[in-house]
Amino acid sequence: MPGPEGAAEPLIFEQSSPGRRGIELPGADVPDAAAPADCLPAAALRAAPPALPECSELQVVRHFTRLARLNFGIDTNPYPLGSCTMKYNPKVADEAAALPGFAGLHPHVPDAWAQGALELLWSLEQALCALTGMDAFSLQPAAGAHGELAGMLICGAYFRQRGDAERRRVVVPDSAHGTNPASAAMAGFDVLEIPGDARGGIDLGALRAAADGRLAALMLTNPNTLGLFEEQILEAARIVHAAGGLLYYDGANLNAIVGRARPADMGFDICHLNLHKTFSTPHGMGGPGAGPVGVRAGLACFLPGPRPAREDAPTEPRQRFRWAPGGPESIGRVRALYGNFGVLVRAYAYVLAYGGDGLRRVSGDAVLAANYLLALLRPVLPPAVDRRCMHEWVADGRALRDVGLRGVDLCKALLDRGFHAPTMYFPLIVPEALMFEPTETEPREVVEALAAAVREIVAAAAEDPDGVRRAPLGTPVGRPDEAGAARHPVLRWPG
Ligand SMILES: *Cc1c(COP(=O)(O)O)cnc(C)c1O
Repeated sequence: MPGPEGAAEPLIFEQSSPGRRGIELPGADVPDAAAPADCLPAAALRAAPPALPECSELQVVRHFTRLARLNFGIDTNPYPLGSCTMKYNPKVADEAAALPGFAGLHPHVPDAWAQGALELLWSLEQALCALTGMDAFSLQPAAGAHGELAGMLICGAYFRQRGDAERRRVVVPDSAHGTNPASAAMAGFDVLEIPGDARGGIDLGALRAAADGRLAALMLTNPNTLGLFEEQILEAARIVHAAGGLLYYDGANLNAIVGRARPADMGFDICHLNLHKTFSTPHGMGGPGAGPVGVRAGLACFLPGPRPAREDAPTEPRQRFRWAPGGPESIGRVRALYGNFGVLVRAYAYVLAYGGDGLRRVSGDAVLAANYLLALLRPVLPPAVDRRCMHEWVADGRALRDVGLRGVDLCKALLDRGFHAPTMYFPLIVPEALMFEPTETEPREVVEALAAAVREIVAAAAEDPDGVRRAPLGTPVGRPDEAGAARHPVLRWPG
């Protein structure tokens, strides 16, 4: 079971006691320098120091250690949260990211002092090109959604350059992740949602109807958010390209095909990858992430810069790598610096540690684990579309109504059994959706134990649905009032 029993941990502010100190610094042996008067306007200067908590070092250590134990993480328990790819992250990648030469590097050191870091970034770009078939990548975007926005800005820049500003329409299937239509809209496009077909793929009739002179792009995830491979991808690409549009690949699910199929070969022109998902970085609830954006050759000029460049004939032998600014057609920077550099190091370490054959096995094992779980659970929790799935699958949770449960009740009961819940109520097109992604890192016994836990909850609900609906009983927080939290958020500690 995750987390200690009993009361929640008090805030560090509640543990504060005036005058208590963790560390004593010696007094300064130089005179205090007053801030120059023109440095900050008087209104922005504090009259008194901020009311920070005053605690001993031991209090602080215990506080954060206890908080860490309240956290539910992949290092303690299985985490089959579909779409998020909560796989185990090899510690060797963390070690690489923590190397002092990487972790302590100042973002503004001259290129000559950052040759190793620049070479790593350049090499990672090459690896991503090899794995996706794209011709160029920019590592700037900080997360998947940010990569989508960069990709859509590239799409807009491409049509503007062609004098084809009429193309304002981006087609998105109704199964898409919510960030897809949001990114297209933020980049100034009109979003047209199209339905899926009976096999859970894209409805080609609806795509054809939308493929006219207004079409800028089709955004597609493959496998899609139902965990199903888009069987009609080649025909979809033909339709979009024939209409003069571009194909955008949401690469969040690349871990299902990595080492086996490449987005460029499917016809995609622009893509982003979620390095924190496919290529491992401990992540969740907003970061840290990396969402590099990749393009075909003709679009490379639009990529956000600066990007690492390698000199084939360096004038200074120890300075092979340098930052190359974006050209005049570039959409520009999409961020100032690489605060997420550690995520890029981890991704590169992961790619090198596995190698081509290893990555091929990653996708194979991810798909195998998901299909095994699907087969074990089909009798109690049928899939929304009963097809061979890829790395994840979506159950139609309406079957739970027979035993008096909703999807959320099953999820809460799983927490009491030591499993993180599957993703709930996404994608929106499946009623009571429950999306399972065991990932390739879970061994067979864990997949079987998860299936057994689900079956046990369903059996318990058949006897006593109210008992199951009281779950979770073993977590620090049970069932918060979610609507209340959204309508009346308490954002400030009344201190
Ligand atoms: C996770 C995800 C995203 C968004 O990626 P972030 O890195 O969380 O911004 C987009 N699309 C799909 C299909 C995803 O699973």
